[in-house]
Amino acid sequence: MRAEIGKKEEADGQRIAAAAPDASHAAVPGGVYLCQVGDEVSCGACCGLYNCADASRGCLEDLIAGRTEAFRRIPRDADAITDFQMRAERRDPGPRPYPDFYHCPFLGFIDPDRRRVGCLLHPMADGNDGIDYRGLSFYGGLACRDYFCPSYRNLAAPHKEIVKSVGADWYLYGLVITEDRLLSAFFGEIEKRLNRPLTMADVLPHADSRQAVLEFLTLKLNWPYRIPGAKGPGNYFFNDGLYPKPPVDYTRLGMAPSALDPILHELSSGFSRPEVIHEAEARIERLLDRILRPAVHPGAGGLLNCEQGL
Ligand code: SF4
Ligand code: SF4
Repeated sequence: MRAEIGKKEEADGQRIAAAAPDASHAAVPGGVYLCQVGDEVSCGACCGLYNCADASRGCLEDLIAGRTEAFRRIPRDADAITDFQMRAERRDPGPRPYPDFYHCPFLGFIDPDRRRVGCLLHPMADGNDGIDYRGLSFYGGLACRDYFCPSYRNLAAPHKEIVKSVGADWYLYGLVITEDRLLSAFFGEIEKRLNRPLTMADVLPHADSRQAVLEFLTLKLNWPYRIPGAKGPGNYFFNDGLYPKPPVDYTRLGMAPSALDPILHELSSGFSRPEVIHEAEARIERLLDRILRPAVHPGAGGLLNCEQGL
């Protein structure tokens, strides 16, 4: 029996009856569709997109572009598709960051400009003539159609919409949209200071707020306080607790936990000295402040100080 787990087990467990990920927004958990967002923004994280030995942008672009091109020449019959899958699996250089999580070789680029990731077995994908081949995949057609990651259920709708709106491209979007605990901690901190829920109108009309959110999301890629050896950049978001992020060790530094600990923890932070924690906190605080200012004083163009920020 193969060891890999992931969306099949969760999809089975969720018993989501008929809500395919490409169904209408009203049919998806939480009412906001997250998987295919725009011309350049889509996600393939639950298909194992980032679960590669080298999950850098360049390496994934080459891998996905190469397999998309190779799959174009594969006859659409079960033997040829299965053979393609087996050859791709044999070529996987490994080791994968999350050995128990599958990386599906049918994740490719689904647009002519190679800017959007998606399923090459989907009935709408190039060359499939409306036939759904996902039943031939490792997870099987039901899980591939019906799985929804925890972000669907756990993130507030305005938080989802804000991330969708500022998401720059498939690479960053898929990395961050699955970070439901990180996003909830960040937006929750803003809401705590606002003393009310955050709305899209608090952020989206303000260029600097959008930019601050994007800069926060980009910390997934360039957070300088990431503990050495932490897994990433892809995260493991399934609910089985197999690969927890390490807690920040405040005891060793003789400190009480940071007020921003939920964010620092989800960024897999590690610190050598108390001053470094303060540095990291200040970096987050500056981003929070840029989002809070126009939300607190919407008519002031974001120029007034926020009394609840820094
Ligand atoms: S990880 Fe979530 S958002 Fe991404 S493709 Fe899967 S279900 Fe959609
Ligand atoms: S067959 Fe398609 S939907 Fe299923 S895991 Fe692979 S890429 Fe994802």
